[in-house]
Amino acid sequence: MTDGIKIRVSYGTAIVLGLVEARQDVAPTTAYLLYDNGCIGRCSFCSRANGNQKSEKLSRVVWPEYEFEKVLERLTVEPRPFRRICLQTGYNPANTETIKSLAKRLITSGISTSMTLSPSQTSLAQDMLAMGLDHVGIGLDAASEESYREHKRKDWQHDWPALQQLLKLAGDRIEVHLIFGLGDNEETFAGRIHEIVAAGGKVSLFALTPVNGGSAPNLGAYRRMQAFRFLCETHRTSLDDCSFVEGRLTDFGLSEKALKEALSSGDAFRTSGCGDCNRPYYNERPGQIFFNYPRALSASEFSQAVAAMQLP
Ligand code: SF4
Repeated sequence: MTDGIKIRVSYGTAIVLGLVEARQDVAPTTAYLLYDNGCIGRCSFCSRANGNQKSEKLSRVVWPEYEFEKVLERLTVEPRPFRRICLQTGYNPANTETIKSLAKRLITSGISTSMTLSPSQTSLAQDMLAMGLDHVGIGLDAASEESYREHKRKDWQHDWPALQQLLKLAGDRIEVHLIFGLGDNEETFAGRIHEIVAAGGKVSLFALTPVNGGSAPNLGAYRRMQAFRFLCETHRTSLDDCSFVEGRLTDFGLSEKALKEALSSGDAFRTSGCGDCNRPYYNERPGQIFFNYPRALSASEFSQAVAAMQLP
């Protein structure tokens, strides 16, 4: 039963649904919804962690609240405004049944539905996929045991093997969320991307949004990680083909010409994850250079992105 349940809707999604009247430069192509009542997660980088329910923001995005059924009505009106729905959830096992009923209602709408879950919820992820969810995003976020302990404050020894197991079973429907900027160097970060891809999964890449302190990553380093993710997922390079000097990626194992050709679609520098997921302004303010482009790049944006990689 979903009567009376309230849900948060990203500001951009609310504009597309006509719930808020405002202009936006780039519209979301996925409807982003958030149910995180009573999240008990303690992620260092989250403005809503530690029970901080007062914050209306997650990353840089404002999330006004509405009745779930009202939102669903808008999502299913023809012509349908979105090709995908992503239900983002906070971590609290007490909410499992509510999350399942929300997912059921979204699945029966016939729109491809993704959901984000915690790495401690891999068995729930399997249940959700069996129920008909299209994809699951797992918020691993940190790329190493050390950064996981420091920033997610959770048990890597339990969570990483459980995630590997999930990838073996359903990797083609799992997007592992990773944040660059939590202290892992490029070699460690690329190594984790390689392991996720080798296990059959995909990576949804984020730049640290310093809403709780810290700083956004160096743009050149982020572009190299974007290129590595793309080239690794499309099997144009692997960790063994690449060179690193003191943790910095210096060579993809491709000639300059082959590298430019391999990246020429620009997709490496766009938002990565489920189909139709573009997450505008998650990582940057309007007017700033996009860490993740939510749309196709212009020729000059593409040249700038390649130049920012500063490869020798
Ligand atoms: S990649 Fe996008 S649509 Fe998929 S789970 Fe992550 S945020 Fe949601």
